[in-house]
Amino acid sequence: MGFREIAPGILVWRYPVLDVNISLILGADGAVLVDTLSTPRQAAELEVAVRAVTDLPLTVVNTHAHFDHCFGNAAFANCDIWAHEATADRLAENSETLTRRVYESWGTTPGLDGLLDVVVTPPTHRVRTSHTLDLGDRSVHLRHLGLGHSPGDLVVAVDGVVIAGDLVEEGAPPSFADAYPLSWPDALGALLELCADGPVVPGHGDVVGREFVEEQRKDLAGLDWTIREGHADGADVSAVAELALSRWPELGAAFALEAVGRGFVELSGRS
Ligand SMILES: [Zn+2]
Repeated sequence: MGFREIAPGILVWRYPVLDVNISLILGADGAVLVDTLSTPRQAAELEVAVRAVTDLPLTVVNTHAHFDHCFGNAAFANCDIWAHEATADRLAENSETLTRRVYESWGTTPGLDGLLDVVVTPPTHRVRTSHTLDLGDRSVHLRHLGLGHSPGDLVVAVDGVVIAGDLVEEGAPPSFADAYPLSWPDALGALLELCADGPVVPGHGDVVGREFVEEQRKDLAGLDWTIREGHADGADVSAVAELALSRWPELGAAFALEAVGRGFVELSGRS
């Protein structure tokens, strides 16, 4: 396995544990690594894989603050690490508290041994709306497209390829634990403006194209409408979740409840 080139100088490693995508962008003067996996062992494996491809100076980008995308940062602590400011704030919280919380949910998952050994390493550079990294012969655009899968999603756009983080998810339903389900469709609308017909790298699963993103946006917009309507009718979270589940059975009961709960939080302005 390892990195596979999906466009000239743009490589993706679909890492088997949690099916996470790691991207590597090669330029004349440097390379950009997007996301760093979950544990010290995974990150060490990633470092070896990166260095087998390039010895160019490396800049790291975290797409968001979820552990499977950034808990490997410590292995790249000598690099500039870029992230949205909400992601940077989250990762600057107490390392032990952050890792303990993840360990409680994921500690027994195969391939995630060593979670408690993670030293959470915050980004060194913060993005509010956009920033461009210059690799000499190509520009790598970091864009925050609004609230969506998390408070601090950063999308990476380079030469027609969009690396979407978990704003786009293939192979499993999108995760709503920290999400803003009512804002997410708009973020995907902005993402569609960035991607012409080029590949879109989701946070997990197979590389997709714009039709897939359009479809996911449509589903999320429908969910948004279901949540707003249920809320306006005075229904409670579980009743609206049941309705959402009947319309999108692939969500699963737990995710439907989480999505509607988060939508109600958004509507209450408490998020
Ligand atoms: Zn995520």
